[in-house]
Amino acid sequence: SGRNRVKIFVRFRPTPNFAHDSVEFLNDGQTINIHAKKEDKRQTVNNQLLDWSFKVDGILHNASQEQVYETVVADMTTKALNGFNGTLLAYGQTGAGKTYTITGATENYKQRGTIPRAIAQIFRSVEEQSDQAIVIRVSYLEIYNENMFDLLSTLPEGSSSNNGGYDNQMTIVEGANGSICVKGLSMHVANNEGEALNLLFEGETNRAIASHSLNKNSSRSHCIFTIHIESRSRTESNAKYVTSKLNLVDLAGSERLGKTGSEGQIQKEAMYINKSLTFLEQTVIALADKHRGHIPYRQTKLTHALKDSIGGKCCTTMIANVYGDFPQLDETISTLRFAMRMKCVPVEPAVNEHYDP
Ligand code: ADP
Repeated sequence: SGRNRVKIFVRFRPTPNFAHDSVEFLNDGQTINIHAKKEDKRQTVNNQLLDWSFKVDGILHNASQEQVYETVVADMTTKALNGFNGTLLAYGQTGAGKTYTITGATENYKQRGTIPRAIAQIFRSVEEQSDQAIVIRVSYLEIYNENMFDLLSTLPEGSSSNNGGYDNQMTIVEGANGSICVKGLSMHVANNEGEALNLLFEGETNRAIASHSLNKNSSRSHCIFTIHIESRSRTESNAKYVTSKLNLVDLAGSERLGKTGSEGQIQKEAMYINKSLTFLEQTVIALADKHRGHIPYRQTKLTHALKDSIGGKCCTTMIANVYGDFPQLDETISTLRFAMRMKCVPVEPAVNEHYDP
């Protein structure tokens, strides 16, 4: 069919105890079957074993960081350079490899993740052509317990209290033609790959400092690294210019936190995290239903901030990060169920063209 939908890839974290007799990949490269084993009582209903089958756009099993980038992200980056918004979401339980996929091991070149690779591709392309004047800006937003943090906010000189960029002043505003802008979130021009990488490292450092000083668990927050691209023709002197955003999103761990035994801060985190991922799911379900007029984007900061970046004009891809280990299969199945709902969201990528007044 001619309809474009959100693309779904499933990346298995390499582990020594991969459950080969429960997790089966079909030769089409797209189907994952999960079989419960006899001794797994959780997976049976009326003593019948349950089987699940999930069909996705691609399975990343023992895939290198480079393979993941080339298979999943490179084309989206090329499209972003041509004026289409692109979003990559990493979704899955804590420990399954979301941060490894999005940021990667920053100290190890081969293991660098999608953000540094997208940055490299973008500046290669900027330097290879001369017809367009291209401006690259970077922003880095963290959402934790419904508060927004600017991971690239510069602190005043000599300031001793590091609040990790926490800013009450940030608000999400909807501009013309539905575009979303986080007012108060700092934007940083990067003139080359090195400057963009330095911004990433600065953001990562602030993320670590803030999580330490505010005693917050970083697996409970959502991080959105955005590369903003603006390009104008150098040869034609019309007033047209093209903008796009490439969002690389490391979502909070999707495991549902039980209320039992948790109190205080943990309980609060559990509430907020369940809330934002539940509303993400509700948004996704509404987006997939073409009869649904109202999409509940505004219920949480996460979906509101991503309003122009999930369905609609955006090219959206989700990597479901999962474990293939037996004890984790419940979470793996729940992640894949979310992925199947996400797969139903239609997208109609369109170039963001603007004209100077
Ligand atoms: P998450 O962000 O989902 O909580 P992480 O990305 O932090 O999970 O991954 C947990 C650990 O597993 C990290 O030490 C990470 O380096 C490692 N890891 C995850 N995926 C891979 C992979 N595909 N290859 C090698 N190491 C991985």
